[in-house]
Amino acid sequence: MSSQIDHVFDETRVFPPSPEFAAAAVAQPEIYTEAATDREAFWAKQARELDWHTPFTEVLDWSTPPFAKWFADGEINVAYNCLDRHVEAGNGDRVALLWEGEPGDERRITYAELTDEVKRLANVLEGLGVGHGDRVAIYLPMIPEAVASMLAVARIGAIHSVVFGGFSADSLRSRIDDAGAKLVITADGGYRKGKASALKPTVDQALADRGEGEQNTVEHVIVVKRCENEIDWNDERDLWYGDVVGAASNAHEAQAFPAENPLFILYTSGTTGKPKGILHTSGGYLTQASYTHRVVFDLKPETDVYWCTADIGWVTGHSYVTYGPLANGATQVMYEGTPETPQQGRWWDIIQKYGVTTLYTAPTAIRSFMKLGREIPNQYDLASLRLLGSVGEPINPEAWIWYRDVIGGSRTPIVDTWWQTETGAIMVSPLPGVTATKPGSAQVALPGVSIDVVDDDGRPQGAGGGGLLAITEPWPSMLRGIWGDPERFKETYWDKFEKQGYYFAGDGARFDEDGDLWLLGRVDDVMNVSGHRLSTAEIESALVAHEATAEAAVVGASDETTGQAVVAFVIIKESYLKAHAPEGLAQLLRGWVGEQIGPIARPRDVYIVAELPKTRSGKIMRRLLRDVAEGREVGDTTTLADTMVMSTISAQVK
Ligand code: ATP
Ligand code: MG
Repeated sequence: MSSQIDHVFDETRVFPPSPEFAAAAVAQPEIYTEAATDREAFWAKQARELDWHTPFTEVLDWSTPPFAKWFADGEINVAYNCLDRHVEAGNGDRVALLWEGEPGDERRITYAELTDEVKRLANVLEGLGVGHGDRVAIYLPMIPEAVASMLAVARIGAIHSVVFGGFSADSLRSRIDDAGAKLVITADGGYRKGKASALKPTVDQALADRGEGEQNTVEHVIVVKRCENEIDWNDERDLWYGDVVGAASNAHEAQAFPAENPLFILYTSGTTGKPKGILHTSGGYLTQASYTHRVVFDLKPETDVYWCTADIGWVTGHSYVTYGPLANGATQVMYEGTPETPQQGRWWDIIQKYGVTTLYTAPTAIRSFMKLGREIPNQYDLASLRLLGSVGEPINPEAWIWYRDVIGGSRTPIVDTWWQTETGAIMVSPLPGVTATKPGSAQVALPGVSIDVVDDDGRPQGAGGGGLLAITEPWPSMLRGIWGDPERFKETYWDKFEKQGYYFAGDGARFDEDGDLWLLGRVDDVMNVSGHRLSTAEIESALVAHEATAEAAVVGASDETTGQAVVAFVIIKESYLKAHAPEGLAQLLRGWVGEQIGPIARPRDVYIVAELPKTRSGKIMRRLLRDVAEGREVGDTTTLADTMVMSTISAQVK
């Protein structure tokens, strides 16, 4: 019974939806019954919200698991669905992107304008010999051209691989090579933290110095001019985006491609190990991205101003900046820079300025705002907000409450959305207006999605029992493989529950007595203390519930008497430090956890640190902290956002 996880932390607050929100909500309670009555018919109905060049007659083909086919005999063009069809429906003047650059420059781009640009770029790509099935790497800052590039690649049936603009030349190079990209779209630079960060030089470096036998597949590099920095130029290879797009024709007919045509490859964020190149295809992916965006964010395309703060380098940026919102004809904010530039209230300023109604962000951002204090958001008018979302990690109940009270004016529902690069779209989330929300719980599988919490042998654990999260039925936006590695695909996700045919998510979870789902952290991070299996998420939530704590990470370190011992790394709030002396804090927090959840969970050590190791997407990398706690040399840090952080922490711990 090694997968059993003891449940230790209690959180019982519940927030029912307001009658007004419920009455006007896109999703009504019947949607659950409808999906449960005939799952495939339900998905087929969602798929028919899209415009198909050739309607499908088959829904799901699961005859050769784990390789699923959805809507396989249908034909679709993903970009047409995100662009042309809105223009053809008379919504060409609707603003698609309310873009704001970090230095404060602005662009408003309508659906008609975005369509025009994507058609031109599609012509450019085809003119350079890029076609159906070819791979294009995109290495751009958060500028409109990033969205246009993804859509232009999709429009011609090619495959994009977006690489986060903060990644090094080595990371970029390995992703370009793994995909065998024929072309790279980049920029001279982008603005972050008040400075122009260079991108083109990194591309040059990634493409340079090939050893013998190493092939360079890249034929052209298209460069967006964003900054004023000097860059090197290769006349045979490099083209200015503005020149070629400006000169291209804006007539481009979207061709139909099979529903299972590959759409993109995207690497996981690397929290648990070497990133995997996840492959997604077209019809099923777009179906679930748009459906979830509509129901989870209660989208009213005529009136909402939606803002997802994720970078397009992550899956959240793919599904909830580019594909979901644009397929649904939404108006959205896109912001280039960092939250604290040029001042700590930048995000709240943007919300006030554009009247943002829906904000979708990550717990790591919320906790960093908590650390700075509520005085900053309190200076802005955030009354336009009507819905808040969270993704990326379990959100601690205290962070959830802060988000709702301080940002949402104690009025907005919060949707805590669980999903992965592999799932392509949201799988578990409350539905706003339907679900009475619980701080810290992702709650219910979306209509059409089937999950369970099981033990190592795939047996359901029922209410209260902690175990492994499994997805028990195929879903439209599921990954179709790991690029170039079908064996790793089977091994990583399907071998574990081969008998049942379940997907293994790698996350610990439990159902409470109401059947709501609580995510307990990565299975790899579960601690075993004197025979009790404890979850990182629960102990971290207890720590964050103390007024002193801004953020906490908990790991299990080997211990002679208990097998493993709980070791906590804690960041203290600035406001707390202003009013209290730091002495004795570690002891205080140890005692606090003991009171909150019992002696078994009391940390052996509490280290007060200034920062935690995080991936570029902002997730805590516990495996590195475990190395520190056990006095080992720190492991692979290549996907860390800030590689200095680990030496700082090691020094603080000594
Ligand atoms: P890698 O697979 O390379 O280790 P990663 O898992 O961090 O990287 P992503 O696909 O970006 O890459 O993240 C998915 C994971 O994020 C989930 O498996 C889960 O652990 C976590 N997660 C995402 N949303 C939530 C949420 N709402 N609640 C709890 N955990 C979440
Ligand atoms: Mg993962």
